[in-house]
This record gives sequence, structure tokens and C-alpha cells, in this order.
Amino acid sequence: MLLIEENFDVKKLTSLKCGGKIKKVIFPTTEAEFKEALSLFPNAKVFGNLSNTLVSSYGYDGEVILTTKMSSFAFKDEYLTADCGVKGPKLSQAAAEEGLSGLEFMIAFPGTVGGEVFMNAGAHGQSISDIFVEALCWSKEKGFMTLTKEDMKFSYRTSICQSENIVILKAKFKLQKTTPEAIKAKMQENLDFRKAKQPNLATPNCGSVFRNPEGDSAGRLLESIGAKTFSINGAKVWERHANFIDNKNNATSTDILELMAKMQKSVKEKYNIKLKPEVRFLGGTDKREVELCKILFQE
Ligand SMILES: Cc1cc2nc3c(=O)[nH]c(=O)nc-3n(C[C@H](O)[C@H](O)[C@H](O)COP(=O)(O)OP(=O)(O)OC[C@H]3O[C@@H](n4cnc5c(N)ncnc54)[C@H](O)[C@@H]3O)c2cc1C
Repeated sequence: MLLIEENFDVKKLTSLKCGGKIKKVIFPTTEAEFKEALSLFPNAKVFGNLSNTLVSSYGYDGEVILTTKMSSFAFKDEYLTADCGVKGPKLSQAAAEEGLSGLEFMIAFPGTVGGEVFMNAGAHGQSISDIFVEALCWSKEKGFMTLTKEDMKFSYRTSICQSENIVILKAKFKLQKTTPEAIKAKMQENLDFRKAKQPNLATPNCGSVFRNPEGDSAGRLLESIGAKTFSINGAKVWERHANFIDNKNNATSTDILELMAKMQKSVKEKYNIKLKPEVRFLGGTDKREVELCKILFQE
């Protein structure tokens, strides 16, 4: 039976450890249950592991489908088919055991297949678009459809799913046969890089806050304007990399949005570059937050 929670507090489920109550949260465990959830709640917003999402401390007055209880995946020859809720690190390990290369980048961050396809996630020279074959998708307007790599219009941290509100139910990837040892060595290299340069989940964060502007790095621009010293209440720019926000001491979503706005404004003033947020926002009931989102997310 479909698990539905009312007035559900998602704070602990988010990698930023920030957020309020959501009116209704639906947790499908299978593709059939996900389809049922979409037919019952066609206006629901779909999220995975909430590792790239800032949820408002004021909560969200609507329905949300969280896919992390969907955990099915299967290998056939060099192909892998996975439910949207499967977490990257688990899939990366499983592919390594099979001697299949292409998912080593997923080992080091906590996204789900759905979130990673939606964002065209990537790291260490690999990305979703390199291995993507097709996905079973759904939209309110078009219903169920299979989208190929061409249909997905992948580019840097984006896919057509973002502009057309398309939901991913499961995805198929083509990997490359190699030895488990070579794959594990690459995974270890990726983990070592993270350990040296980026925060892990012991630091509540949501990965890169801003996308890299063309030909430059958001981290470099932010560092050059002194953002590493910026903080607003419990929200602080991470001291070792200026494109991460550390929820150091129970920051509210407003604190985090204010800090993002300060980072964005400072870069704009010095370089005339408007950084675009990579992190997504779920909320919309508080006036100040609505204002901040207008500033932050408007092109
Ligand atoms: C420590 C850390 C390191 C990170 N490093 C990287 C990195 O190196 N590279 C990188 O690309 N990202 C990185 N991230 C960000 C994040 O993990 C990725 O963007 C990931 O793809 C998000 O997956 P998610 O399931 O958590 O998505 P969520 O945060 O749950 O959702 C993100 C967006 O995807 C949409 N979405 C989620 N599931 C679906 C679905 N099934 N169908 C349609 N839309 C969906 C949501 O609506 C939302 O707009 C990092 C995050 C953290 C915390």
C-alpha cells in the first residue's frame, strides 16, 4: 500500500539539515506505486535524496513524492536499468562488482538516479549524459513516454526535464566492461579528491551552491571576493571552498537564501557576472523568501 505521510518534517532527510513540514509526502517503493502516486497526485513535486535542494523552514503547502524507497536495479550485459530512487554510491559499488565502468563519479555524492538525470550530474570528468541510453518519464501534459539521450537535451547540469517539468521513473545506462580493480582504483581516487577538497555529509551542505559560469569557476570568483568569511546567523560559507554553504548552527532557509543573495550580489558587483544557483528551492509561503528567490533565480 502506498505510504503517505501528512505534515511530514523533512529537515532530517535533507543534506542541508534545513526545512519544515510538508503537507503530504508520498513514498512509492516500486514503479507501479510511483505510477499510482502520479495518478492520485498529478501536481506533486518529485524529489530524490534532497541533496541538491533547500527546503523552506516554513514548509511547503502541497504534495511531494520522495523516491528514495524505490531501490530496484538490474544489469544485463553492459546495460544497467535502475529505478529513479536508487542512490548513486550504491549503484557505483554494484557496477564495480560487475566490472562495469562509467559510474565511478557517483561514489562520492548522495544523489539518486532521478535527481542525477534531472541535473545531468557529473564529477571527475564523467557525467550522466556520457552513459545515458533512455528513461521512462512522465509529464502531466504528455503522460508516460520513453526519452532517449537526444530527447533529453543534456548540457552542463541541465536536461529537458527542468524546463518541461518531466519526471523520471527509471533510467537505462550503457557501461563499459573493464576490471573491478581499475574501477575501484578510480573510485578511490575520486573519494580521496573529495576528502581533500570538498565537504562530506558531516558538514550539512547541498554540494555546489552556484553553477560555474561559462569559462570560469564559481568557487574561484567567490573566493576572490572574500566570500569564505561570509555568514548569516547559522549559515556560513565553507572555510575551505567558497562555493559551498555549511549549515553550521541550525540556519533557517531564510538565512541560507540571504547568504546566497549576498554571495551572488558581491560577484555581480565586482565582475558583472550573475551566478546562477545550482541548488533548487522548495517553499514559497514566506514573503521575504519569495523576494529572495526572485533575485536569486531570475535570469
Ligand atoms: C556533499 C555533496 C556533494 C555533491 N557533489 C556533486 C557533484 O560532484 N556533482 C553533481 O552534479 N552534484 C553534486 N551534488 C549535488 C547533488 O547530489 C546532485 O545534484 C544530485 O543529482 C541530486 O540528486 P537528489 O536525488 O538528491 O536530488 P534532489 O535534491 O532530491 O532534487 C534535485 C532536483 O532534481 C529533481 N528530481 C529529483 N528526482 C527526480 C525524478 N525522479 N524525476 C524528476 N525530477 C527529479 C527535483 O525536483 C529537484 O529539482 C553534491 C551534493 C552534496 C550534498
